[in-house]
Amino acid sequence: MDRDADALHRAAVVVDAHVDTVLALEAGRDFYRGGSGGHVDLPRLRAGGVDVQVFALYLEPAYKPERALARVLALRDRLLRTFAAGGGAVRLCRDGADLDAALAAGQLAAVLSVEGGEAVGTDLALLRALHDLDVRAMGLTWNQRNAIADGAGEDRAQGGLTAFGRRVVAEMDRLGMVVDVSHLCARSFWDVLECGGMPRFASHSNCRALCDHVRNLDDAQIRALAMTGGVMGMNFFADFLDQDPARADVGRVCDHIDHICGLVGPRHVGLGSDFDGIQRTPRGLEDVGRLPALTRELVRRGYRQADIEAILGGNVLRLLRAVWAGGAAG
Ligand SMILES: [Zn+2]
Repeated sequence: MDRDADALHRAAVVVDAHVDTVLALEAGRDFYRGGSGGHVDLPRLRAGGVDVQVFALYLEPAYKPERALARVLALRDRLLRTFAAGGGAVRLCRDGADLDAALAAGQLAAVLSVEGGEAVGTDLALLRALHDLDVRAMGLTWNQRNAIADGAGEDRAQGGLTAFGRRVVAEMDRLGMVVDVSHLCARSFWDVLECGGMPRFASHSNCRALCDHVRNLDDAQIRALAMTGGVMGMNFFADFLDQDPARADVGRVCDHIDHICGLVGPRHVGLGSDFDGIQRTPRGLEDVGRLPALTRELVRRGYRQADIEAILGGNVLRLLRAVWAGGAAG
């Protein structure tokens, strides 16, 4: 059965919607050589069968707010120079045609995402500039409050999306840029969904019903996200998987997948590992090279092949393509 599962995994288009690997690259990791510590490099992405990788440009609090855009541009530069050094192994993707070309050529399809709306300050022109610079998704907040919305760490303040934040969401929809609602506090989440528009993406968030953490979504949020055509990516941080992180393993990730499928079916869940941004990984998923273990467990639990393919990547790909194609910028 494991051999069938591994074949299924290799044949599937696997998408990881969130890693913080750029920070490790900055610290000196060689992306093209294995065995360099942390969770992600190209040899391990290959071993894990990953075809599409969303790279977050994560804004550390020390750069907010004044130096946020400069920091994002520096991180983008780091990634682009890394990709350029790969001799064609990686293709930066801006639209569905780029994804098709990368997948057909067996290249790693790379997508740029900003994690922290401080990068656009209070100016929609900066948002448009980031889109011009190939950023195709943005988490509106990290855990703090910014000019757009309150993040998950501000939950007690009861703040939501600001007037500027509503304009950001509308402009992202117009541009065809994915609005990432992971890290929003509950009030901000609901305010974004109330805006209507494109499918919404919780790129790296789990189920609150299984692990009561402010970074996870409750059942009402999961249902509402699915109603937009949205998808949530399973985060592998042990602390978001189980109240007792020591118990987190590959089965626990599948428990969260089971829960979402039970609520809204198999078309609204994907993977958003948060690798290289998390301190504790689940047993059996110690780095991205271990990803086939997830497929083995889904097969063991009796998931149909089509549903496994949707969970491994089809759902996130559908969302990326829909939002990117729906924007005025094509
Ligand atoms: Zn994050």
